[in-house]
Amino acid sequence: MSLKIILFPCLSDNYGFILRCTNTGQTACIDTPDAGEISKQLQTRGWGLDYIFNTHHHPDHTGGNAALKRKYGPTIIGPKAEETRIPLIDEAVSEGSIVRLGDCKAVIWDTPAHTAGHINYYFKEEDVIFVGDTLFALGCGRLFEGSAAQMWAAMARYRDLPKPTKVYCAHEYTLSNARFAQTIESGNPDLADYITDAKSKRDGGLPTVPTTIGAEIAANPFMRADKDAVARAVNMKGHSPEDVLGEVRRRKDSFRG
Ligand SMILES: [Zn+2]
Repeated sequence: MSLKIILFPCLSDNYGFILRCTNTGQTACIDTPDAGEISKQLQTRGWGLDYIFNTHHHPDHTGGNAALKRKYGPTIIGPKAEETRIPLIDEAVSEGSIVRLGDCKAVIWDTPAHTAGHINYYFKEEDVIFVGDTLFALGCGRLFEGSAAQMWAAMARYRDLPKPTKVYCAHEYTLSNARFAQTIESGNPDLADYITDAKSKRDGGLPTVPTTIGAEIAANPFMRADKDAVARAVNMKGHSPEDVLGEVRRRKDSFRG
């Protein structure tokens, strides 16, 4: 394994990620929520920045592109479908593109739903996926530019990954997502265990990210939109998982808890 991942909190609830190929010293960051904090993390380690890998155009994911480009001159890679909205993009990628970081490589997934061109970076050999704002621990992204059917397609695809795959989500939303998930599947013992574990991490000042595909399959209501218990909870038994996910998402949008 030559991929080292540094995770750090920034802004109000974002996570920043710095990736380094330990064989070659090539370094990248996933998105640029906070240029100052990313620079600090790089400087502490005496590292440069060869690449920025953007997942989607939102300002808390691309806001630091310009400052980091000025300071380190990285190649900026981002989604082809949002090419005009990614500041200073050098290389546009889409489904099936291969992105290299030294000896490590990621395959690009198109996961439109949160935004129209959102992409994921899947490092298959390392069992790691960077999902941006598509998948969250016990949640999924809001449907700003896409549909529930697109989000369900992404969820179904995540479920096919090996269960130990580590999922790096871009925000710490887990305890709030947990309160909502309990309104959907209060009887799910895996959800209860998940929440106990997440609370103890947060009490200890630790991140709940990365999560794993296996943990999300067992407890994330959006990943479980085809389960009877989830459909029943939103009075939609017999409806398609797309429609169930859409209703669960609508309820989450207005959930205050
Ligand atoms: Zn976003």
